[in-house]
Amino acid sequence: MTDDVKDANRIDSVELFLAHALTLENEAADGYQEIGDSMAVHNNPEVAGLFLQMCKYGRMHADEVRELATGLDLPHIPPWEYSWEDGESPESASMDKMHYMMQPAQALALAMKAERQAHAFYAGVAASTANPRVRELAQQFAAEESEHVRLLGEWIAKYPPADDNWDYDPDPPAMPE
Ligand code: ZN
Repeated sequence: MTDDVKDANRIDSVELFLAHALTLENEAADGYQEIGDSMAVHNNPEVAGLFLQMCKYGRMHADEVRELATGLDLPHIPPWEYSWEDGESPESASMDKMHYMMQPAQALALAMKAERQAHAFYAGVAASTANPRVRELAQQFAAEESEHVRLLGEWIAKYPPADDNWDYDPDPPAMPE
């Protein structure tokens, strides 16, 4: 039965949906925080500001989910039982590809990928669930992710792609992360 749920990416209970959303938003916020901090230290304060703002959206969304879950008993899901397609939560999947010298365009491209995946996850749930309340919530969350995708698109237009030597550092740190 678990395999069926996984295969179809189908979530029919509000509790299960909210448990997924909570993990997704928390991990997204953590990822953005990490990128934002790194941008602030090594690179670009303007983009750092954007990532910290995205982080805040994630935390706000997680709070919203927690509120929706008030009075409900959210299941504890072991990591391998989540209905993610490749075992990692959609909004954070690419964050560990972060490099300390990453340029704004690259960080933004990673964020865009994560937001698109998050949108695809919520839209997929909305399309496949048999529960009207889950559909309603998933549609609402998918719309929020669309807004993030739109916002990032504006930023990506502002920052040209990285040059070829983006990771050349004449004085590399003694203990790379
Ligand atoms: Zn988002």
